[in-house]
Amino acid sequence: MPTSVVTGGAGFLGSHLCEALLERGHRVICLDNLVVSTLENIDHLRDDAFVFVNHDVIEPIVIDEPVDVVFHLAALASPVDYLRMPLHSLKTGSYGTHHALGLAKWKRARFVLASTSEVYGDPEVHPQPETYWGNVNPIGPRGVYDEAKRYAEALTMAYHRQQGVDTAIARIFNTYGPRMRAHDGRAIPTFLRQALEGKPVTVFGDGSQTRSFCYVDDLVRGIVLLAESGEHLPVNLGNPDEKTLLELARLIIRLAGSSSEIVFEALPVDDPQVRRPDITRARQLLGWEPEVALEDGLRRTLASLGHEAAVGA
Ligand code: NAD
Repeated sequence: MPTSVVTGGAGFLGSHLCEALLERGHRVICLDNLVVSTLENIDHLRDDAFVFVNHDVIEPIVIDEPVDVVFHLAALASPVDYLRMPLHSLKTGSYGTHHALGLAKWKRARFVLASTSEVYGDPEVHPQPETYWGNVNPIGPRGVYDEAKRYAEALTMAYHRQQGVDTAIARIFNTYGPRMRAHDGRAIPTFLRQALEGKPVTVFGDGSQTRSFCYVDDLVRGIVLLAESGEHLPVNLGNPDEKTLLELARLIIRLAGSSSEIVFEALPVDDPQVRRPDITRARQLLGWEPEVALEDGLRRTLASLGHEAAVGA
């Protein structure tokens, strides 16, 4: 039975990844300091093969058993969290990634970094291929997330090149699904919460900025395929179906059967105008592409919140 360590395993993506790994017959050691999550996300994982350890990855990671794969997801991924705890974000990206890579080196394990499309910043190239180096403001408020991930990527490649660690880098684009936190500041849970409460749906700017939303099951399948591949260079994982934020808000209001109005608010500093992954590499290397359309994924997310999507919507 392979053993996987998942840092940030009690979070949104981490909890789905732990679940998928258990289904594939892995033993799973989930490390999380619960700084922005709760045990509720993993409460259903009552399996002898599942272990939860409350640990802050800013501190060294010691595990007294063989490990085959280290999935490093621990981060402050949502804007409300990294803007509130900028130093924790940078420390998790730097010390935390050192410790996760150190564990992979010690155990001779495969290492998978959960990186992000934010390494591309506000891109001048569209869609974004992995060869694009990005356009990131290092000193803006978002720099504490974007640069932590860019540093984590540099560190990962250094452990690979200098120390021979078997590493992989997943550049994850916006992902959504059940277990996202209603108040984490990301577009889909915010719009869903506002639409379900009949409150105004708040769109930043004029809503013409685009994003590409990937359903969590598709994303997790991609991460597992990447772990099982021998690839070392970054691979984009995301859904290339691009939507404007205004289109997204209207779709969510319709599916929720809500009468919420849309209101426009100031754009956050350094908000990217466009975002769409070029997934040619993922298709070629992993045979991966998303299968769940946005409307279908939103219906599943609504169902997880106890709401049927509006009939005929
Ligand atoms: P999340 O906030 O739900 O999960 C992150 C988890 O990491 C939380 O449970 C948190 O408690 C934990 N954590 C944070 N700092 C820690 C530390 N120092 N030690 C131990 N645990 C710590 O976020 P998510 O959406 O599940 O994101 C998971 C990973 O995927 C992150 O690395 C994120 O940057 C990346 N990612 C996510 C998306 C997305 O759309 N969800 C997009 C791009 C990249």
